[in-house]
Amino acid sequence: MVVFVICVSHLKSTIGKPRSTSWPSLLPPNLQTLDLANRLREDPAAINIASSDHGNIVQEIPAAVLYPSSIDDIASLIKFAHFNSSPFHIAARGQGHSVRGQAMARNGVVVDMTSLKNQKNGYHGIKVSAGTNGAIWYVDVGGEQLWIDVLNATLEHGLAPVSWTDYLYLTVGGTLSNAGISGQTFRHGPQISNVYEMDVITGKGDVVTCSPENNKELFYAVLGGLGQFGIIARARIVLDSAPKRVKWIRMLYDDFSTFSGDQEHLISLNGRENKNGVDYLEGLLLMNHGPLDGWRSSFFPLTDHSKITSLITKNGIIYSIEMAKYYYDDPSLDDSIDKELEVLLETLSFIPGYAFEKDVSFVDFLNRAASREPTTEVDQSQEHELVTSRPWLNLFVPKSRISEFNSGVLKDIVLKRNITTGLVLIYPMNKSKWDDRMSAVTPDEDVFYTVGFLHISGVDEWEAIDVQNQDILQYCYNAGIDIKEYLPSYKRRKEWENHFAMKWETFQERKARFDPEMIMSPGQRIFNNN
Ligand code: FAD
Repeated sequence: MVVFVICVSHLKSTIGKPRSTSWPSLLPPNLQTLDLANRLREDPAAINIASSDHGNIVQEIPAAVLYPSSIDDIASLIKFAHFNSSPFHIAARGQGHSVRGQAMARNGVVVDMTSLKNQKNGYHGIKVSAGTNGAIWYVDVGGEQLWIDVLNATLEHGLAPVSWTDYLYLTVGGTLSNAGISGQTFRHGPQISNVYEMDVITGKGDVVTCSPENNKELFYAVLGGLGQFGIIARARIVLDSAPKRVKWIRMLYDDFSTFSGDQEHLISLNGRENKNGVDYLEGLLLMNHGPLDGWRSSFFPLTDHSKITSLITKNGIIYSIEMAKYYYDDPSLDDSIDKELEVLLETLSFIPGYAFEKDVSFVDFLNRAASREPTTEVDQSQEHELVTSRPWLNLFVPKSRISEFNSGVLKDIVLKRNITTGLVLIYPMNKSKWDDRMSAVTPDEDVFYTVGFLHISGVDEWEAIDVQNQDILQYCYNAGIDIKEYLPSYKRRKEWENHFAMKWETFQERKARFDPEMIMSPGQRIFNNN
């Protein structure tokens, strides 16, 4: 039997204020001879930001933080570390929206990617272009850019990326290092499936352009590669014409197999090409604690709150499908979207009278999580002061075991213990939309579910929730449910080997090739654990 233990060496509670011994004593003195030296900071303000993240659980104190003025700064730093007799760790930090220290670098250098956003040298930023035949549109974006800014810039051309995350205040480099999933993934694949090309600064300090045609090994390594092979400086992202508005619907179910049956039916249809299909599909649990809407603002009409609450009280868990259909025309001129929806709803088996609809702009729909999560740096630092922690657990569960997962985990653990706070998401995806040559790992079934326990707790409460997380993992292990963690945070080499399974050998080979000194992204604890 595997016993999951919480490693305490890196836990926030064990570490106090930044050490007084820092760079240059922790870093090679001749680093100061590089041009970039005056953009390295070791003051408490810089160190504090770089040693914390959105999870507020882990703290690792770096020796210094680089505020690069260009890609060259980052390349010089990495090259220096790579050729140094005692290489030090380097981690890119996008928005620091990891929850387990993944963007930290103990005693090393954290590269604050967002400082590139302030540069005006023309290389970075966001540039929309047409491909050579004029038919393909794409956007070139710096790895430091936020998806909200990519959205706003592409909309000016009537275009938009096709695959999103629920929350848009994340960097392009940060989400491409994981996968980038949301309700569009079943149809378009994760964000990593929608990249044409990248510029990557490898762990040797080389700036390499890669794509499925050129330097493809690096391309596939970096996508979903958890920052292990280099830093994404630029990504060329697929665009399509942007819808104008969105019909956004939630339906409620009291029976899990009806709920999952309808979800699986919906992802078998194909959105825009199929009038009966949807463009977005997620699902969430409604339980008796926490707000009805989680982070999706106030979706349900106030007048219906009491009847929904009674339903939850009666059943313990209510399952909600959340789906959306995009439309492109003015609704006053064209009512076909309503007819399509009517036909679609007739094929579904939700509790009669429990379907709720909103009609919102495309931007409001994609940016729906902003109403709950902080979006500006000021918001984020204020929120940090409020000291909430986020002991999240995100899983991919094979479709063949999802019903067992519902009874063994959602009902027997989550519902009974009644300590879950925050949103619980559950929705299926098609494996055919993922590219197995990339580093990201998924279960070995044509359809799998993502289940996200997006807990928010007080700083003193996250450990109790983490015990539940470990019990969920243990249940899956005991029951032989071959789950994969998304946004994983293992501590031991063996766990990483199990995680990558068939891909582990390739992952190691790629590490040896692109980051042989094992400099990059130590906060993932893959190659520098115990
Ligand atoms: P960071 O936390 O700064 O970095 C994450 C990792 O990527 C680190 O290892 C870092 O070293 C590396 N990295 C950062 N930038 C680069 C780069 N340019 N090149 C190479 N490596 C880099 N994920 C989803 O898939 N879907 C969601 O809907 C979703 N919603 C979220 C909502 C919230 C409120 C939060 C906090 C997280 C959410 N996430 C979601 C998870 C999120 O995608 C990841 O945590 C992502 O890494 C955060 O991006 P970041 O810019 O903050 O990255």
